[in-house]
Amino acid sequence: MVYQANSARYESMEYRRCGRSGLKLPAISLGLWHNFGDTTLLDNSRQLLQRAFDSGITHLDLANNYGPPPGSAEENFGRILREDFLPYRDELIISSKAGYTMWEGPYGDWGSRKYLISSLDQSLKRMGLEYVDIFYHHRPDPETPLEETMRALDTVVRQGKALYVGVSNYPAELAAQAIDILNDLGTPCLIHQPRYSMFERWVEGGLLDVLQEKGVGSIAFSPLAGGQLTDRYLDGIPADSRAASGSKFLNADQLTEDKLSKVRKLNAIAQRRGQKLSQMALAWVLRGDRVTSVLIGASKISQIDDAVGMLANRHFTAAELAEIEEILV
Ligand code: NDP
Repeated sequence: MVYQANSARYESMEYRRCGRSGLKLPAISLGLWHNFGDTTLLDNSRQLLQRAFDSGITHLDLANNYGPPPGSAEENFGRILREDFLPYRDELIISSKAGYTMWEGPYGDWGSRKYLISSLDQSLKRMGLEYVDIFYHHRPDPETPLEETMRALDTVVRQGKALYVGVSNYPAELAAQAIDILNDLGTPCLIHQPRYSMFERWVEGGLLDVLQEKGVGSIAFSPLAGGQLTDRYLDGIPADSRAASGSKFLNADQLTEDKLSKVRKLNAIAQRRGQKLSQMALAWVLRGDRVTSVLIGASKISQIDDAVGMLANRHFTAAELAEIEEILV
């Protein structure tokens, strides 16, 4: 059956200006790192994308290496885009990245002009797109001159292969330099994509100040710490969860008693607020309005519904924030 988007899709989502740019992003964005590779049934991935778009989630985040195997998330997304979303292309903000290992040899990794430009060409082919809306350098490269990497980002915009550019995982000082170089080149940095959650707060030590001062937006990845900041692991490790999947990013060793005890306490506060812990954790990242969007992952449609349900209660009292702070220290 031909997919028809929900006609009420713009009614409940909040759209937030990304830094001092003209672009607004949904408060919640969907990442395709997990659950879109060849190990997931295409129909599950399709349903997740449809539910997201039907809920007003207009921003979908990819990277060259998402899978497994690397590249397959972009290929599968490209197929679903062709089959379901072509009429909606101009309603979508699609991002991709390059910066981690993608192919063999010296030109398939890090931050050279050679790697970034050829990788974006490959990504566009896999997705069947003429351009991406945002192209990121995925991680800092300690060897390539920053100027070269930023020039490559400027080039892809001038070539029409990306509308905006951003950086990811850059520490505060390097991000400031990258933003200044891009400004000098005439291609402002739209956005920074850092890891940020109740359990990973490094951005509070300077990065958010830099971004605010320079008018650059931010999108927080892994805001649920891969599922740890939800009720998923309160009664053990479910067989269909990320921690049971053999992931090197989340495994049983990381779910320590200390962490679970924090999760239980946070869960009690969420319940008092009449929401799920996952919802409170997302609202917490958006508190203070310095983060433009939270970039979630989902393996089930209900997880997208949970995230969107968060919008009904984004406010924290000073007492709640203090109580959360005490648990997190
Ligand atoms: P999250 O922290 O949001 O974790 C998502 C996982 O949490 C889900 O896959 C699911 O896991 C679980 N979950 C989600 N909602 C619920 C819920 N309501 N109840 C219970 N469990 C829930 O984000 P990710 O770590 O997946 O990262 C999100 C995106 O960020 C990626 O797709 C990618 O686009 C981006 N990213 C960017 C990086 C970068 O270097 N720039 C690095 C990592 C991510 P389960 O499978 O157990 O159901």
